[in-house]
Formats: sequence, structure tokens, C-alpha cells
Amino acid sequence: MEVEQTQQQIGDVLKRQRMHFSGGNTLGFADRARHLLKLENALISHKNDILEALRLDLNKPAVEGFLAEYYFLLQEIRLVRRSLKKWLKRKRVQSPIYFQPCRSEICHEPYGVVLVVAPWNYPIQLALAPLVSAIAAGNTVVLKPSELSSASEAFLVKLLASIFPTDLVHVQTGGVEVASALLGEKFDFIFFTGSTEVGKIVARKAAESLTPSVLELGGKCPCIVDSSADIKLAAGRILSGKFFNGGQTCFAPDFVIVHESVEQELLSLMKSELERVPWCEEMAHVINEHHYQRLTDLLDGVDTEQVVCSGKDDVSHCKMAPRLVSAIGWDHCLLKEEVFGPILPIVSYSNESELLERLSTYSDPLALYLFAEDKGFCKRIQQSKRSGAVCINDTMKQSSNLYLPFGGVGDSGNGRYRGEFGVKAFSYQRAVVKRGKLGAKWMDLKPPYGRLMPWFERFMR
Ligand code: NAD
Repeated sequence: MEVEQTQQQIGDVLKRQRMHFSGGNTLGFADRARHLLKLENALISHKNDILEALRLDLNKPAVEGFLAEYYFLLQEIRLVRRSLKKWLKRKRVQSPIYFQPCRSEICHEPYGVVLVVAPWNYPIQLALAPLVSAIAAGNTVVLKPSELSSASEAFLVKLLASIFPTDLVHVQTGGVEVASALLGEKFDFIFFTGSTEVGKIVARKAAESLTPSVLELGGKCPCIVDSSADIKLAAGRILSGKFFNGGQTCFAPDFVIVHESVEQELLSLMKSELERVPWCEEMAHVINEHHYQRLTDLLDGVDTEQVVCSGKDDVSHCKMAPRLVSAIGWDHCLLKEEVFGPILPIVSYSNESELLERLSTYSDPLALYLFAEDKGFCKRIQQSKRSGAVCINDTMKQSSNLYLPFGGVGDSGNGRYRGEFGVKAFSYQRAVVKRGKLGAKWMDLKPPYGRLMPWFERFMR
């Protein structure tokens, strides 16, 4: 009964949004910028509510919530608001001489009614960033946040209902059943962020109705440390990226592959770093008991001497202390499944061809991290392994830059967003041709073709 009611409600919302869109109500650039300004102001006045929701859902440290969710969103909204007219400006292109007089243009048009499905790890940012792009491009939006980050979900419902009419933005709450019901409806575009497994379901559903989509998925991002690397720098930067948000970042380094000649040095520097930095006191918790158990299961068969752990676990609050795990075999589940938590497996390689062979057994990741001073080495690795992004001598920085496209390749997803790439992702390119009244009569092709053929053959070579 509940699902039927939800389906009915979704159907009504879609009807209203479709009418709103086809009435041309989303098309004015000034209106789009006004909507974005409203969102920006609402975020500013609800900054503390955002940080509180993130604390309730993930015990996210305020600094991390502020930087990676609140401020990152503000920056994106400001950039998009300032630039959207320029990015979406009609572009005049050449027309063939025999069509003259003629004007040919490329227009960026909104898809229409779009669906955005978001995950729980950055529950505000990963819900609102696609929404910003969607509105800027001139669409109406149905947003489904993750049911697992319930405080953020409730916040989004309240915030967006207070500033936007349902005709423009609707937040649909619920779990898998609701998500499936949404996918059963006809949208004009789908933007999905989540696991590769669910991404495949979304892709199948989208294919059935020929709906274009962007899929932002997960996977295992390798972090390679070459013997030419600055090992101290690598140790510090890998851990800072890995344990941000309690290791629950889709593009965080998932596992380290270090050259055997510097393995011990890296391990001992990471160990001192782990003892020095009070991560356990200020680190996001694991989202829920299910994921806590999943992470605990990943440690099956690992002996205590293989683990370096800083701080204490608190199962009742899903607080897992950060851990390094070394000396495990390549067939261990920590090296097979996406970790997505505060556990960092470390393995070694003895030469470049072994490294390349190991890398080839993994599907294409969102990010490839390389710590090396040897430029030739970096080039060869990049050439042999595809990834959504590459970051050299640091971790995570590739995705904090709004001027770079964000997205995966292969199993880590397809399509790009952020800044201009996001606005363009939510638009399609429409070719518009306008011919003048005057113009070569012979171009209005119709039989009898008479002597046209020899003439074409002579001049159209
Ligand atoms: P998930 O795939 O379980 O859920 C994501 C969203 O999909 C949620 O809103 C959920 O309700 C919905 N959903 C769940 N089952 C569904 C179904 N059968 N049909 C339709 N929708 C369904 O992912 P998650 O656990 O929320 O997030 C963790 C995963 O997401 C990790 O794999 C991580 O790497 C990935 N991720 C990727 C990015 C990225 O930008 N590429 C960002 C964050 C997380």
C-alpha cells in the first residue's frame, strides 16, 4: 500500500514537473541564477544544521563537513552562477557555402525532468552538486538522497521544500523500493552516484527506456609508491587522504602497492604517523552496523602482527580505529573488494612488469595515485592503466578542483560533472540551422534532377 502511494505521488510530481518544464519555466538564465542564489543563501543560513546532520549521520568532524560538503558546494554554486550564461551561450559555427545565406548554431538545451540518486558518504554534497548542475542547465529535478544518512535526508527535504516549488525540485525519500519505483518511471536523464553493483541495475533500467545517464560509481583506487618517491611525503599524504571521512570516500586510496626496496621504510613512517595523529578522536564513524560488520569480515584471517592500529574501536557507536594491514596475499578479500572504510592494505611489488600485471587484474578505478620522482615511470603507468583521474605525489586533490572534470571510466562509471562539466552533463547539444529566403534554388533538391549529376561530379570533388 505504501509503495503504491509513493508510486502515485511520484507520478503526480512527474506530471507537474513535466508541465512546468514544457511551459518553458526553467529556461530563463536569470531565473536559473536566482534559484542558485536562493540555494546558496539557504546553505549559508543553515550551515550549522548541515554540520549537525553530518555529525548525526557519520560523526563527521566539523572541519571535514565544512570543507568537503558546505564550502565546496558554496564554491561550486558561485562559480556556476557567475559562468552559466557564458558556458551555455549558443555557438555559431560554419555553414557549407552552398547553403548560404544560412546560420548554423550549437545550443545547449536542458534534458527536461531529471532524476538524481545520491549515496550516503557525502550525503549533502553528492546530492546537491548534481542538483546545482541540473538547475543551472534548466531542468527540473527529482532527488533521491540515501536512506542510510537519514539526518541529511531529512535536512534536504526541509531545505529544498522551503526554497523551491515541487514543480522544480522534489526530494523523494525512501530506500531500495522507492529507488526502484523511481527507475520504473520515464525520466529524461538519470544521474546516479553509488556502488558499481547498483550502477549496473540503474544502467539496465535506463537502457530499457533509452534514457541517457551519468553513472558515478566505486571501485578500488590503487596507490603506487615507487622506489624513487619521497617516502615521508608519501606516508603522510596517503594516510591523510585515506582516513578523511573515515575512509569512506569513493576516490580515496583503497590499497597501497609499494616497491619492495622501500616497503619497510614506508611502513615504519606510516606507523609513526598513525601514532602521532589523533585520527581516532576526530574521524568519521562507519555509517552503520551493516558496514561495520562488512569491514570486520574483511579482516578475517588477518593476524594481529599484520595490523598496525591506532586507538580503540567502539562497536556500539560504529567507531572503527584506523588500521594498516601488511603482509597479506594478493588473493585476500582486502585486495579484491572495495574497502570503503578506515583499513589500508599494503602490498609490495618487485619490478615494473609485475606491477603492471597486478594492476591489469583490477577494473578501471576512479583515481590512480602515483608517488614517484621518476617521470618515465609515471608516464608508463598512466599509459598502461586507465582511470577517471590521476594524482601524482598526493591523494584526493584531483577532485577538489572545480575546473577539472570528475568521473570514472569502465567499472568506475561514465560521464563527467563539476563546474562547467556538470552543467554540460545535464544538457544536450542541439543543432539549429536557419536558412535565408534567398539561396541557391538547386539546393531545394527534387526531381527531375536533369543535369545536376554531371555538375555535382565536376564541382563536388
Ligand atoms: P548504493 O549503490 O548502495 O546506493 C546509492 C543510492 O542508490 C542510494 O540512494 C540507494 O537508496 C539507491 N539504491 C540502492 N539500491 C538500489 C536499487 N536496487 N535500485 C536503484 N537505486 C538503488 O551506494 P552507497 O552504499 O550509498 O555508496 C557507496 C558506494 O558508492 C561505494 O561503492 C562508493 O565507491 C560509491 N560512490 C561513488 C561516488 C562517485 O562519485 N563515483 C561517490 C560516492 C560513493
